[in-house]
Amino acid sequence: VRTDLTAAEAQRVVLDAVTALAPETCTTADALGRVLAEPVASRRTLPPFDVSAMDGYAVHAADLAGGAVALPIAFEMAAGATPDRRLERGAAARIFTGAPLPPGADAVVRQEDVEAAGGRVRFAKGVPAGENVRPAGEDVRAGEIVLEPGVRLGAGPLGMLASLGRSVVAVHQRPRVAILSGGDELIEPDGDPTGGRIVSSNSYSIAAQCREVGAEPIYLGIAKDEPGELERLLRAGLGAHVLVSSAGVSVGDRDYVRPVLEKLGCEIVFWGVQIKPGFPLVFGRFGPRSPQDPSGSGPLVFGLPGNPVSAMVTFEEFVRPALRKMAGHAAWFRPRIEAVLGARLRKSGSRMHLVRVRLERRGGRVVATSTGNQSSGVLRSMALAHGLLVFPADASELAEGSTVTVQLLDEDFLAATDSGL
Ligand code: AMP
Ligand code: MG
Repeated sequence: VRTDLTAAEAQRVVLDAVTALAPETCTTADALGRVLAEPVASRRTLPPFDVSAMDGYAVHAADLAGGAVALPIAFEMAAGATPDRRLERGAAARIFTGAPLPPGADAVVRQEDVEAAGGRVRFAKGVPAGENVRPAGEDVRAGEIVLEPGVRLGAGPLGMLASLGRSVVAVHQRPRVAILSGGDELIEPDGDPTGGRIVSSNSYSIAAQCREVGAEPIYLGIAKDEPGELERLLRAGLGAHVLVSSAGVSVGDRDYVRPVLEKLGCEIVFWGVQIKPGFPLVFGRFGPRSPQDPSGSGPLVFGLPGNPVSAMVTFEEFVRPALRKMAGHAAWFRPRIEAVLGARLRKSGSRMHLVRVRLERRGGRVVATSTGNQSSGVLRSMALAHGLLVFPADASELAEGSTVTVQLLDEDFLAATDSGL
């Protein structure tokens, strides 16, 4: 079992073990945030015919070529009408926004620009052909691929699907993540905190991290530091796509997670990553659930460190990208930005550090400043963070004012402006 992987190597090993989940059908109404699992080709041309972009009068542009002219109003075209009447030369048709242009007509003059009375309409000047006309196929043409697999279905793509007449769509299944916390000291938030007990905050932060990335958390509960109970709870998670436990992965006498996983048939792929916080991360995988069905494999397993910050940071770096790949996303990592370091940072040792920072816009620049005490037990450092600053393994000091890379956790700092448009 490897214990010397760099963070980048460990990410690669994890992502190589992940494949996208199979597609399922979802109604377009419920598909917000899901990831498209099919190429969507248009069955329709939109708009299906030339339509008017304005309320006004459809004309032959050539009839207005000589300047001011009055034409008889031959008929009316409402939105939703069928374009079955031809507009003859020397006449105009009353038309409304979204109505099909009658055959023969090639321009629309806005009603604000004409005088209409007694069945005739007077135009003050000529217009070019195509004026105020939305040509057929301006949006999409039948047969054209409009949305590619891997697209996250936000409001725009969902509106597009609806306009193509798609009420159901193929999306990737959402990863189901079984979550377990381990430790004799742990209680639920409304439990009795006397006698050195602490709330299992990891259960909450990890479930929230799952939901944020579109995965479905399944909370298995708190396991005492006792192999039998740990085994019972871990077994309950074997049907999930991913099993995430926190704590009990170090070298303490009561750290049973690794031996119990192995007993259950889990192959431990690595233990220990050169990263701070988060060194004692365990990654494992189960082989096929049964020899009869080699296709249905058991869950990927992440044994996260127990310290609340380490658990969240290792989830960010290793579990989250895996869940994104599983969910069918084309991009797996958080966005990274360049920022200016607000105050000098130092570290010792040769591990990569991920420093929790706040971000602030000053002029055209983003300034990153440490959230304070970076101990892996200080959850406040994470609660206040907008991002994780990448302090490279081989550096020991980052100077004030230097350019640093920050992985964005929270884009709310961008919203801190005084004005709208
Ligand atoms: P361990 O990995 O069991 O040695 O735990 C490391 C530290 O994380 C200890 O201080 C634990 O009390 C703490 N810890 C473990 N599990 C949790 C949890 N679910 N929520 C909050 N803190 C935890
Ligand atoms: Mg413990």
